[in-house]
Amino acid sequence: MTATEIRQAFLDFFVSKGHIIVPSAPIVIKNDPTLMFTNAGMNQFKDIFLGEAPAKAPRAADTQRCLRVSGKHNDLEEVGIDTYHHTMFEMLGNWSFGDYFKKEAIAWGWELLTEVYKLPKDRLYITYFEGDDKEGLEKDTESHELWKALVAEDHILRGNKKDNFWEMGETGPCGPCSEIHYDSRPDSERAEIDGATLVNADHDQVIEIWNIVFMQFNRLKGGALQPLPAKHVDTGMGFERLVRVLQGKSSNYDTDVFQPMIQFIADKSGKQYNSKSKPGDADWNEAVAMRVLADHIRAISFAIADGQLPSNNKAGYVIRRILRRAVRYSYQYLGFKEPFLNQLVHLLADQFKGVFDNLYSQKDFVQKVVLEEEVSFLRTLEKGITLFEDLIKDHNSKIHESGSVSYVSGFGEENVTNKNVIPGLFAFVLNDTHGFPIDLTELMAREKGFTVNMVEYEAALQEQKTRSRAASVVDTGDWVVLRDNDNVEFTGYDETETVAHVVKYRKVTAKGKEQYQIVLDKTPFYAESGGQVGDRGELVFPDGEIVKVTDTKKENGLIVHFVDKLPEDIDDALTAIVDPALRSQTNSNHSATHLLHAAMKQVLGSHVNQKGSLVNSDYLRFDFSHFAKVTDEELAQIEAIVNQKVRENIPLKEERSVLYAEAITSGVTALFGEKYGEYVRVITFEDTFSKELCGGTHVKATGQIGFFKIVAESAVAAGVRRIEAITGVAAEVYITNQNQLIDQLKELLKNPKDLAKSVESLLDENAKLKKEIEKSILEKSSGLKNELAQKVESINGINFIAQKVALPNAEAVKNLAYQLKDIVTDLFLVLAADFDGKPSLTVMIAENLVKEKGLNAGNIVRELAKEIKGGGGGQPFFATAGGSDASGLDAALAKAKSFVG
Ligand code: ATP
Ligand code: MG
Repeated sequence: MTATEIRQAFLDFFVSKGHIIVPSAPIVIKNDPTLMFTNAGMNQFKDIFLGEAPAKAPRAADTQRCLRVSGKHNDLEEVGIDTYHHTMFEMLGNWSFGDYFKKEAIAWGWELLTEVYKLPKDRLYITYFEGDDKEGLEKDTESHELWKALVAEDHILRGNKKDNFWEMGETGPCGPCSEIHYDSRPDSERAEIDGATLVNADHDQVIEIWNIVFMQFNRLKGGALQPLPAKHVDTGMGFERLVRVLQGKSSNYDTDVFQPMIQFIADKSGKQYNSKSKPGDADWNEAVAMRVLADHIRAISFAIADGQLPSNNKAGYVIRRILRRAVRYSYQYLGFKEPFLNQLVHLLADQFKGVFDNLYSQKDFVQKVVLEEEVSFLRTLEKGITLFEDLIKDHNSKIHESGSVSYVSGFGEENVTNKNVIPGLFAFVLNDTHGFPIDLTELMAREKGFTVNMVEYEAALQEQKTRSRAASVVDTGDWVVLRDNDNVEFTGYDETETVAHVVKYRKVTAKGKEQYQIVLDKTPFYAESGGQVGDRGELVFPDGEIVKVTDTKKENGLIVHFVDKLPEDIDDALTAIVDPALRSQTNSNHSATHLLHAAMKQVLGSHVNQKGSLVNSDYLRFDFSHFAKVTDEELAQIEAIVNQKVRENIPLKEERSVLYAEAITSGVTALFGEKYGEYVRVITFEDTFSKELCGGTHVKATGQIGFFKIVAESAVAAGVRRIEAITGVAAEVYITNQNQLIDQLKELLKNPKDLAKSVESLLDENAKLKKEIEKSILEKSSGLKNELAQKVESINGINFIAQKVALPNAEAVKNLAYQLKDIVTDLFLVLAADFDGKPSLTVMIAENLVKEKGLNAGNIVRELAKEIKGGGGGQPFFATAGGSDASGLDAALAKAKSFVG
């Protein structure tokens, strides 16, 4: 079977068992503070498991793109080294939401593997949970019994909490699980060593393929387990591993999922891929590098296609690091010194056409982003290599001179006495500040016969980790539940005041500051999402107490209000009031964003896609894919279209519940990387103009926006531009200020008829005058040159001049000094000048005197500057100083003589 057929067979099988097929959620997670990337198929159902949202159907199945590169599930360091852990992989899954449980889940899993896929039973091993006394968890006897009815007893193994109790993260849904492992060793090996002893022992031919989890608990902060409202089934099967066993291969990379990519990389690098290479073999590093590239390009491309651009922090930084890991391997082991990774994007996009189309439709954009990142990281690598080589030179000469080198950084001080050791702190700074990978430093060190002081390196790394952890610790308490109510109602589309009750609350401590978070049964507060900021406002209680809401955020299905304190009477009914002024300005900016988006598609083309946005009460910011700077004419055109639509006062058409599929066929604008449910909300301003899927709040008619003004256009990343704009009062104030500025200018210029022309002639005149002044200064210093040349005193074979000159600036004095140097040999020149009360000294010494007499202009000028209460420096033959006491200039000139006497 091909990989495509294998995937389809999985989905078909579960459809035949009454499951609906759902689309993969985006790989980038937006509304869950505990998770950056989707790490399992169940993530998108987390709130269903927790009982915070209803299930759309009792049974579902899908293939989910997953990324395991951070947090609890992090396989990054294994990837490429082994043959069955990937950064991005597809997880095939089937779910029961409070519907079927262990019996069906186990029976169907077995049926699919042994009857549909026809895997030999004697190569399959099962594990079940043995229980855990410390956690008070019982042994999973039920699963054990169910398996015994299907599988030979010596192929069923007990497993501990580490392997057989699955958890999504530090907190969240979890439960006991049963894994299915496959032994793909040749028969001879299997006869020698019992496969059962190799299960969960990191053997690369005895690997886990499927995990069937019985979701029963919620892991709370602090570690306690809370039973879930219902029992669920959550399974996850690694697609690439399944394909490998079905295609009879010993490595995921030997299947048709990866071979086209591996072959392309091998061809372009002019090297062979050796699947059988072992650590220590001559071609081992090359094999690892090819696997790393073939793997990492998937994580990078899908993350970017889902809206996560590489950046300097959080999720963006994780993606940047994966990309750099790939570039480093290709640079170091495959000889790619020019950008290469980006060439893989199209191949991948074609491969996933029809499976994950979001990449195919954005492949040019993704390629461009990858290319730009590569170019910049390759520059980093080159810079790092230069720094490294400079260090070695410096290092050797210092150790040669004084026997040791002391290296100081923000992370400590290190003294190195061994001449073949690179300071760990240097390696750390190279890595931390310049992004230069430590393993590359080590490799280059080895090539030069050096080692890196890894003890110091690790110490600095540790120190930095401790610092950043201390800066970012957020301690989130468990919810205190007051009412059982899990269907929070959002009333904010219709009103800004709602009577409500507190459902639950919790305490959050960040940077030593305590805050509370509150969930209400109904709320008009909009929670930050889709770029629109969360509402602010008040909760007003019957006894008059007012609790301020400083922000509102979404957490899975919940709307969480951020407050500074808890109300006294938390059980009372309260009135939740959104700040109406802020909300109304935010509405204007949000609706204007839609008009802007539509206008841009008209003016710039349909390739313009939203890549991020921010809408608050002050302004709007819109990032979009476009490859060139938007010209002033284009901006003016866009502005004109938006303002035209504002004047037309188009009423808002809001449809709260449209079938997603219908909305898409009607031509709405949907965003990549956004997770849409079966039903969506459609916001329309004129059917033929702007139609977007959107959850945000809007004006009732476009006239409310008042006036729209673009204030900035800039680049944010490769292929991504940004427009910032304002509306309503803010735009009015902006225009008024601009007008005032023009009025001021007119007044200064005595109200000329043509302001622009008058400024132009002012500039012309100014340029002319400047030229004339320069000319006259030049004349003056030439005159001075001849005068000073007459004043030479000859002392000990030195032609000494020390004079005060009346020149207007340092440039003129320097000019004079250089001219004198040309006509007077063995010159020792000191010039004193006073620039509008600022004293200055200039010392010029002929090169031969510097060499022969050991004179140094830098040292001398520093000494002389004491007389004018100042300081300075420069080179041995030319140096200058400034000061604060012009009355000391004569004394300085007098002192100068002592250096030649
Ligand atoms: P392993 O012990 O092999 O790392 P796991 O216990 O972390 O696996 P689960 O969290 O149970 O795996 O995930 C379910 C399935 O997803 C696994 O059975 C496996 O087939 C697949 N899988 C997990 N991690 C990866 C990965 N990094 N790359 C590819 N497939 C994976
Ligand atoms: Mg794992």
